[in-house]
Amino acid sequence: MFENLSERLSGVFDRLTKQGALSEDDVKTALREVRVALLEADVSLPVAREFVKAVQDKATGQAVTKSITPGQQVVKIVHDELVHVLQGEGDPGKLKIDNAPAPILMVGLQGSGKTTTTAKLAKRLKDREGKRVLMASLDVNRPAAMEQLQILGVQIGVDTLPIVKGETPVQIARRAKTQASLGGYDVYMLDTAGRLHIDQELIQQAADVRDVVNPRETLLVVDGLTGQVAVEVAEEFDDKIGVSGVVLTRMDGDGRGGAALSMRAVTGKPIRFVGLGEKMDAIETFEPERIAGRILG
Ligand code: GDP
Repeated sequence: MFENLSERLSGVFDRLTKQGALSEDDVKTALREVRVALLEADVSLPVAREFVKAVQDKATGQAVTKSITPGQQVVKIVHDELVHVLQGEGDPGKLKIDNAPAPILMVGLQGSGKTTTTAKLAKRLKDREGKRVLMASLDVNRPAAMEQLQILGVQIGVDTLPIVKGETPVQIARRAKTQASLGGYDVYMLDTAGRLHIDQELIQQAADVRDVVNPRETLLVVDGLTGQVAVEVAEEFDDKIGVSGVVLTRMDGDGRGGAALSMRAVTGKPIRFVGLGEKMDAIETFEPERIAGRILG
């Protein structure tokens, strides 16, 4: 369905006269193809435009190395710039969980993969860092969501806070905090309620919980296949609640990963993890190189 960018560019450069350096016209022609490739990978138009401009400034006048074709050279410049934009500071997989018990707040829309991701990250902390983790669902409107977290907890060998009917999300968060302190847990993860769309009540609920527990990390879970919507959701959550990182789920799907670039460029928030399936081990630390390769096809 998609034509690979390298193939596309080699076609472009075949039509151009070869010179010692990439001329402005050569670069412009090539970058038109790059822009189409970015749009096909679901990068938003303003982000694609700005990205192409940055690459144009970098590429013009660069000497063409003898060992590679001009097309390959432009692909390399584009690849390096993609990695540069996608890269956050520090190790994205390192969660701030000093000062036990460390609260982690999980936020996002219903269906984004929030509960699954909560359990995946809990398992990772347990298996890789030997942490004792307590999980709690704050989704008081959806008993099924609470039960889902409990079932996942049993499956991965991570404790969940016992479900008590009639409590508010803030009351559950307080109980989780107390239980985590008394029980000697290193981390407690709060899986907040999700809705199909962002609404005031949802945001207020998450903000109230945030104010009670003062989370060390607030991770926003978004469906990586939803492209521009994912970016809008991230802007809204960051604006109202403040997020410390983003988890992009469903990156095992056949989307081209352009949402990652728009996400970084628009919100400035680091992408910390990517979800790669329904299984509890299907999560990886975000690697800019991999996404860059995928966007370029
Ligand atoms: P929530 O409503 O945000 O808590 O979403 P859930 O965690 O219940 O996930 C909704 C559905 O998406 C479930 O069937 C999950 O197994 C599935 N899911 C979650 N993350 C991923 C992922 O990274 N890849 C795939 N393919 N499915 C996922």
